[in-house]
Amino acid sequence: MEEQVYIEILKHMAEGVYFVDRERRITYWNPGAEQITGYTSDEVVGHSCSEGILRHVTEGGHQLCLSGCPLAGVMKDGRSRTASVYLHHKEGHRVPVSVNGQPIQNAEGAIVGSVELFHPRISNRFARSDGHRREDAQVDVLTGIGNRRFGELNLEPVVAAVDAGVASLGVIFVDVDHFKHINDRYGHGIGDRVLRMVGQNIANGLRISDFPIRWGGEEFLAVLPGADQRSLEQAAERLRMMVEHSWFQEGEVQVRVTVSVGATLAVPGEGVNTLIDRADRLMYASKNAGRNLATTDAGPLPRGGEIPIIGTERPWEMPGLSVIR
Ligand code: GH3
Ligand code: MG
Ligand code: MG
Repeated sequence: MEEQVYIEILKHMAEGVYFVDRERRITYWNPGAEQITGYTSDEVVGHSCSEGILRHVTEGGHQLCLSGCPLAGVMKDGRSRTASVYLHHKEGHRVPVSVNGQPIQNAEGAIVGSVELFHPRISNRFARSDGHRREDAQVDVLTGIGNRRFGELNLEPVVAAVDAGVASLGVIFVDVDHFKHINDRYGHGIGDRVLRMVGQNIANGLRISDFPIRWGGEEFLAVLPGADQRSLEQAAERLRMMVEHSWFQEGEVQVRVTVSVGATLAVPGEGVNTLIDRADRLMYASKNAGRNLATTDAGPLPRGGEIPIIGTERPWEMPGLSVIR
């Protein structure tokens, strides 16, 4: 009876909750976890999270499944842990979440497993996995982020504020690398899913006051009112890292892409077109330097983070670790 009450509570929580046993095999996965990750309970229960369902990465691109897993730590010393990480959504993109791990003890006090609670850390209004169903004249139907019209309407007043000397503004230009190859090899349907994955990464990588925009084709803008050089650089490298650590499963293939990024701060009086052109040129500098790179006016940014783990047919079945760069 009592257990039934707890299960009812877990079912109705917006927070994601899952339980693992000592081998880190998932034994329970609540509807909140389904909502946040896109994975249903049926898809994950019985599988080991250490094989990499969520594949938490940190802000710096460090993969916690390889070392530093919070749940493994909890089960080792019995102490709860909290961390800010980016989890993997089934549709491919990364979602910033706060996670908290707690030990589960039996009647004798022995640690028999652990429970992880997690909730999204961002509130950018375009960060939602069902974004492509939105019916809004300023939303790009495919990706669920702002469309070009939305971008133009919102750039105008922030550029005017820069001209008036009352605000700063950062612009990040993002172009998918070798996207034609994705279309040619897997077809336009997969190409479209890749665009949604990149668009949702941008939305999930930005703060509430920033704008993610599909500027056209496989080109995106992130508009950051109030940015300084440091926050601009952090955002540019974060977006590159998030895409590098994103994938979705299509049959036996993990579909992955990288992006080339250009980032710049607005100069008073230059106008929208000059500003975007400069961000575009910096993006091309990233292409010319080998792609999967972010470049600002001060030059290319050091790539943070680790080389992503590649799985096999299903992301959580990893017989060995192979790598790409
Ligand atoms: P690079 O690394 O130099 O950027 O190479 P690329 O192949 O990404 O660049 P290119 O500009 O040659 O190709 C962009 C492709 O994007 C061509 C176009 O067919 C495709 N594309 C544009 N819009 C869409 C779309 O809405 N859906 C799909 N599936 N493809 C699109
Ligand atoms: Mg392009
Ligand atoms: Mg491209």
